[in-house]
Amino acid sequence: HIPVITIDGPTASGKGTLAAGVAARLGWHTLDSGSLYRVSALAARRAGVAPDDEAGLARVAAGLNLRFEGTSVFLDGADVTDVLREEAVGTMASQISVWPALRAALYELQCSFRRLPGLVADGRDMGTVIFPAAPLKIFLTASAAARAERRHRQLLERGISANLDSLRADLEARDERDRHRATAPLKPAEDALELDNSGMTVVESVELVLDWWLQ
Ligand code: C5P
Repeated sequence: HIPVITIDGPTASGKGTLAAGVAARLGWHTLDSGSLYRVSALAARRAGVAPDDEAGLARVAAGLNLRFEGTSVFLDGADVTDVLREEAVGTMASQISVWPALRAALYELQCSFRRLPGLVADGRDMGTVIFPAAPLKIFLTASAAARAERRHRQLLERGISANLDSLRADLEARDERDRHRATAPLKPAEDALELDNSGMTVVESVELVLDWWLQ
């Protein structure tokens, strides 16, 4: 039996950072499921497959030639980690993630990340669809203002200047789409613990989740 902790929540709520921190403390693996939707978007764009071509997108996702090294993602042998973080790729990921056939094509790949001694998986439907039996499910939130500011800071650290208001508008649009899609909408699992980290440091959030896990 391989334990899983799921962390779901809206864009830029700090899921990835929290997942990495908890996994580091437990010595577990991580799954950044958003990166699989992002890499599917990138591969589709490169193959000229349109965001509304459900069957074409599912074919692209099923045929992905991926390799993971630590936190780096390789597509067809090339490191695409930085490209995947681009806003345009995130927006396309959000557009294509509405398609059930694409989501189904990524299901087995996501399950394959579950390896000993354990997995911390973050995304939108980790607790509701992919790992519904996980013993600890977190639904992570933060105010739209806090999330836009974090995203702004992350971009600045990488030398990219962005407009705070348009960042906020973009992430709110993405959350709306994620919440209202028919398949695997963004919502807390029934047994999820909700955590609003707007006023918390990363260390405080990690400690809280570890407390919940060890309880
Ligand atoms: O988390 P991240 O911003 O990298 O995810 C990109 C997009 O992929 C999200 O906006 C969401 O639409 C989609 N996604 C999803 N299900 C997941 C993870 C991400 O639909 N488990």
